[in-house]
Amino acid sequence: MYDETDDKTRASDTKEFIEDISKAYPTKVARKRLQHMIGVNSLEKQKIDANVRTIPGIITQRGCCYAGCKGVVIGPIVDMIHIVHGPIGCSYYAWLTRRNQGRARSDGKNYLQYCFSTDIQEDNIVFGGEKKLKAAIEEAYNIFKPKAISVHATCPVGLIGDDVVKVSKEMSEKLGINIFGFSCEGYKGVSQSAGHHLANNGLFKNVVGMDDTEEEGFTVNILGEYNIGGDAWEIERIFNKAGIKVISKFSGDGSYDEIAKSHTAKLNIIQCHRSINYMAEMMETKFGIPWIKINFIGIKSMSKSLRKIARFFDDPNLSERIEKIITEEEVEAENAIAPYRERLNGRTAAIFVGGSRAHHYQDIFKDLGMKVIAAGYEFAHRDDYEGRDVISDIKVDADSRNIEQLYVEPDPARFRLRISPERYEQLKKEKFLSYYEGMIGEMESGSLVIDDISHHELEKIIEIYKPDIICSGIKDKYLIEKWGIPSKQLHNYDYGGPFAGYRGAVNFAKDIDMRVNSRVWSYITPPWKGTPIINAEFAA
Ligand code: SF4
Repeated sequence: MYDETDDKTRASDTKEFIEDISKAYPTKVARKRLQHMIGVNSLEKQKIDANVRTIPGIITQRGCCYAGCKGVVIGPIVDMIHIVHGPIGCSYYAWLTRRNQGRARSDGKNYLQYCFSTDIQEDNIVFGGEKKLKAAIEEAYNIFKPKAISVHATCPVGLIGDDVVKVSKEMSEKLGINIFGFSCEGYKGVSQSAGHHLANNGLFKNVVGMDDTEEEGFTVNILGEYNIGGDAWEIERIFNKAGIKVISKFSGDGSYDEIAKSHTAKLNIIQCHRSINYMAEMMETKFGIPWIKINFIGIKSMSKSLRKIARFFDDPNLSERIEKIITEEEVEAENAIAPYRERLNGRTAAIFVGGSRAHHYQDIFKDLGMKVIAAGYEFAHRDDYEGRDVISDIKVDADSRNIEQLYVEPDPARFRLRISPERYEQLKKEKFLSYYEGMIGEMESGSLVIDDISHHELEKIIEIYKPDIICSGIKDKYLIEKWGIPSKQLHNYDYGGPFAGYRGAVNFAKDIDMRVNSRVWSYITPPWKGTPIINAEFAA
């Protein structure tokens, strides 16, 4: 039976733990870090600090602005060439490290396996690299004849003042194809989040709306789905069965031509809220496309999301088809995960990734009977934690002002609401459209939320709570495993996936069972548990 006092006790235990964590920090640092941690208390409206600079000295898992722009949002578009203007070291991390999968369309163009870089050197830093960039664009064009090229600036070229936007425009005029640049130098903004915003702006200005060809039926765009390990293909498998047509995906397995006509879709579906809510809002303002937030991770979440789409379209045949699919697919998936659930039931997990994944994967852990005791994002803003009601309350600081905010207004010729104005207003009032409730509201009292977690904080969680698994990114994966705790990467899924949809949930169950229940962890003794590794004495 629900007991309010239980909630209070759990919340105060977590408070003690948070205070204990901060003891290792100097006073000023502790003061700041404490704003980024809360013990969830479902009886209160809680505030958390997010999207602010990481304190120097804290070991963060965050990526840079360029990683967000090229690595996350633009890079997965299969039929464009994406040139990185910078040293080769920056380029390496844009070379399929996220495992975005993509297929060529009828024109056979797919450049995902390639890494295009200007590989700038010391003399370019001294004398400028624009000439080298122009030559690189021309060379790529001559060899591959792509329909479009994007150019991405990394830190050094921003410092010497190379103007990738201007060079791209010049080369676009010269070569007669769409070429556009992103001033997404790594140091802009406080994390990769700034790069997502820049990428959204660039796609909106340069690609969305270029092709007005409209398709009939229940048409949607999937936003914030990056097709890691084939997630988008599992979602599309279900959509095809239901008769829902995907006009474009932003941007896993994305295509330039499809994004060009994305403004003709009837509904935008947002998977990763943080990386792409800008695009949904701009498309809604300019073209009148409503958006809903969904989650395709987990059996129950997938069904809930399908029902949300059915509700939007409000068509009895579609709803009937969707209900039939849910019944069939749920039974199949539930039967397949049953043996894993038996072995995983009651185990605990912590999730520290991304800008929506730490929320989405809580649902799939629930499907497996597991409890998420702690979670947090690397680059989220307060609304990702607290819900969109707090947006007007968020202070715009200098780092956010650094990112261009596009002024968008309704397109006089192409704006049209996809549903009646009355229904549109009603669904907005009900917070069915244009709404995301955030992660904290769905977490249990007594669980922990930590924004931009540091290695020290992660180690404390391991020491005190000993979760059975921690989902993380590559930077913290091995730190966790050296403590004898299995880690599952949720940025690129290690070598697994897809994890979305019904079949994805089964894959995930197998993967987690393989890690949590492997005997290998019992053979690991962290080196610091043995004899001291360094012996020293003062010399006289
Ligand atoms: S921070 Fe700068 S130098 Fe480092 S990877 Fe990002 S763009 Fe390259």
